[in-house]
Amino acid sequence: MDFFFNQEHLLLRSRVRSWVEKNLIPGIREEADIDKQARQLVSHLGQEGFTAYVAAKKFGGARENVQARDLCILREELARGSALADTMFAMQALGSYPITIAGSEEQKQRYLPPIARGEAIAAFALTEPQAGSDLSSMETRAVSRGGEYRLTGVKCFISNAGLAQTYTVFALTDPEKKTKGISAFVVEANTPGFVLKERTPLLSPHPIGVIAFEDCRVPRTQLLGQEGEGLKIALTTLDTLRCTVGAAAVGLAQRALEEAVQYSRKRRQFGQALAEFQATQFKLADMATELEASRLLVYQAAWTRDHNQSDLKQKSSMAKLYATEAAQRIVDQALQIHGGTGVVVGTPVERLYRDVRALRIYEGTSEIQRLVIARNLLKNSQPG
Ligand SMILES: Cc1cc2nc3c(=O)[nH]c(=O)nc-3n(C[C@H](O)[C@H](O)[C@H](O)COP(=O)(O)OP(=O)(O)OC[C@H]3O[C@@H](n4cnc5c(N)ncnc54)[C@H](O)[C@@H]3O)c2cc1C
Repeated sequence: MDFFFNQEHLLLRSRVRSWVEKNLIPGIREEADIDKQARQLVSHLGQEGFTAYVAAKKFGGARENVQARDLCILREELARGSALADTMFAMQALGSYPITIAGSEEQKQRYLPPIARGEAIAAFALTEPQAGSDLSSMETRAVSRGGEYRLTGVKCFISNAGLAQTYTVFALTDPEKKTKGISAFVVEANTPGFVLKERTPLLSPHPIGVIAFEDCRVPRTQLLGQEGEGLKIALTTLDTLRCTVGAAAVGLAQRALEEAVQYSRKRRQFGQALAEFQATQFKLADMATELEASRLLVYQAAWTRDHNQSDLKQKSSMAKLYATEAAQRIVDQALQIHGGTGVVVGTPVERLYRDVRALRIYEGTSEIQRLVIARNLLKNSQPG
């Protein structure tokens, strides 16, 4: 694995791993107040300097430029300890990356340092009730009038809805141009007309909800890049962040494998430990092999991003698809090895079973990743 990393990556991994061991592993527990826990996590991740990896050094970040390998290392290690910690870190990256790639100097100076310090929470608002996988069905409008844009529309499944201060929002400035008429904006939560409509309870603890723009007036200075560049900004952001979803899957699967190994050594049936049955050993072997394959795909994609290679889209789709699907299988087998104990609420594998599911859906479902991979494959093939 080390061929994807330099010394700084290895140091980061060892630092975040010890923090996770000390602060997250001892207590995977459900908190009644998810928002409070989420805010505390962002603040701790900021104090530890982990959220600093989402921004470039000039804007309060840890490194000269944002690196996908750093983001993957952090997501993998955090997810091994707590899916909520991973989510909170991931959203700092996803919500701020559009500003990193398309923001003006002023926008970067204003928004990135507080996000990098974990003092401001970020969100990314793309999905709508009628526009999930199909972004061409977007309805949110941004009408330019005088020195401002007036935003109207609804965004659903927005992580950190109601919690974040800084939202990257995608809206149509020119509906006739369809996806080419999408523009990106930075919207502050206290802007008049910005409304939290509802919070959406999920299978696994995750602050998420519906927001609406009700004649929400944002100054022209909040436009990211040029009008019509929104789709490009969203897709470039997702191309970089997609492999990090795979990294989170690797972290959850790693934890599931560790739990399964420990339990199979302890639990005795028919006079021997479960680990002594070849059927259990075969399960563990398959889990470990799929996990390693996922890890290789994830860090290959992250390396590809960090070295500006042209096949990033293909590699990151493959990494996300394989790692999230494999993590689902690994967690399921870990639960099976635990028998009845695996479905008892509050056990680590029961929690992992719920935590792993959403990864196959957000930032492009598995089906959409397959479409991307197949399209690339066919585009680059010669007729026979
Ligand atoms: C935990 C979580 C966090 C999220 N956070 C955010 C966020 O912060 N910001 C944000 O903007 N969005 C967020 N989302 C939304 C997420 O990106 C969407 O749920 C996702 O893009 C899928 O859209 P959809 O749910 O509308 O499903 P649909 O697009 O309605 O898809 C439903 C099913 O149909 C399949 N399908 C759709 N089109 C095709 C096709 N052409 N071929 C084959 N199958 C197809 C899909 O794969 C899926 O299985 C989040 C979602 C979740 C679950």
